[in-house]
Amino acid sequence: MHSFAYRGSELACEGVSIATLAKEYGTPLYVYSDATLTDHFTKLDRAFAPVEHQICFAMKSNSNLAVIRTLANLGSGFDTVSAGEIQRVEAAGGDPRTCVFAGVGKTEEEIAYALRKGIYSFNVESEAELSRISRVATRLKKIAPVAVRVNPNINAHTHAKITTGTYENKFGIAFEEIERVYARASRLPNLRLRGLQMHIGSQLTDVKPFRLAVQKVAPLVQKLNARYGFDFFSIGGGIGIVYQDALASGSPAWWRKPAGRKILTPDTYARTLLPLLKPLGLKVLLEPGRFLSGNAGILVTRVEFIKRTGKKHFVIVDAAMNDLIRPAFYDSYHEIVPVSKKSGRPIPSDVVGPICESGDYFAKDRPLPKVVEGDYLALLSAGAYGSVMGSNYNSRGLPTEVLVRGRKAAVVRRRQKVAAIWAQEAVAPWQ
Ligand SMILES: *Cc1c(COP(=O)(O)O)cnc(C)c1O
Repeated sequence: MHSFAYRGSELACEGVSIATLAKEYGTPLYVYSDATLTDHFTKLDRAFAPVEHQICFAMKSNSNLAVIRTLANLGSGFDTVSAGEIQRVEAAGGDPRTCVFAGVGKTEEEIAYALRKGIYSFNVESEAELSRISRVATRLKKIAPVAVRVNPNINAHTHAKITTGTYENKFGIAFEEIERVYARASRLPNLRLRGLQMHIGSQLTDVKPFRLAVQKVAPLVQKLNARYGFDFFSIGGGIGIVYQDALASGSPAWWRKPAGRKILTPDTYARTLLPLLKPLGLKVLLEPGRFLSGNAGILVTRVEFIKRTGKKHFVIVDAAMNDLIRPAFYDSYHEIVPVSKKSGRPIPSDVVGPICESGDYFAKDRPLPKVVEGDYLALLSAGAYGSVMGSNYNSRGLPTEVLVRGRKAAVVRRRQKVAAIWAQEAVAPWQ
């Protein structure tokens, strides 16, 4: 379920008109739905009710303070990948003790920060990192809770840039090495072997790779748990979402329903994995990012120009790859809909931003109804890996972000003033 739908001919987020928000706050504009975040969290949480579990939202997908607060209030913990993200959790009023800390390149400073804040566990990605954590913990006279990330060598069959669970990428420690690494870790001072972690990739719409990975890893967890006394087994994130035909209801007539699209529901995910997880008797950690935030956000943009060339119909909009890089970076598909419904025959359109890069596009040859200068368009499913990947390329300020709850809307990030972009810069003294 998500809460972006036409009410009559106007796109709304919950009880708030998107056009009204766009007029009030300007564009480009990110709009997030509290109800959608809540619904997705609750569905996943309920699906795993038969086992002790903790959802740790992968906040790299969307780290806006208001999004973090919404999820923290629901009981979510956080999967963090830097000391900066742990500080963000604190800034949002969350508790670092609900955080796990992942990533292949943790610095000594970051490890020390996480230890002082009492994070729940380090997800360790290499033997060198284990030694470093042990060393920092010894220096600080702390016991560091650790879980090694196992690479189960299961291909998630998703986009190459988001596959993480095979031996061709930098993440985790090979399945065959794990027992030896734990044996070594058990001899290092000031470590507590708290669990095992895995994460095989992102945007998985088929449950099979998850099942294969848990099937492969569960016996290892059992063995290590008997030896070291674990608290948890983390099965990572990666639950995919629907990008095509992503509108909740009232799809316009020109809509082409993509054939054979797949949805991985929390129920299917839980029903498949619970029989494998339950016998372990351990707390299950889940690290969903996109599943919680992806369809909870849209990017609203205004049409600046229509440009026709011999071959193409370009719709030039005021949002760009610096606001949402996914199409350029991952060849991602985002549904694009007019904020006010349009009639008429769809025209194959290239929706492009103003940046001086041919990669600056949102869609190519996409059938869209005829739009004109000043119309608003919404790029759907932009709540995950959208705003967080924003940059100031072309000296463009980061956009405003709004959180909607029912009939209320609040600015949760003000548009960045352009002077703030170079505030940390200076001319050299000899100039
Ligand atoms: C990115 C990441 C996640 C979240 O991935 P999603 O596809 O957004 O669910 C979870 N765990 C780890 C270790 C990650 O790197």
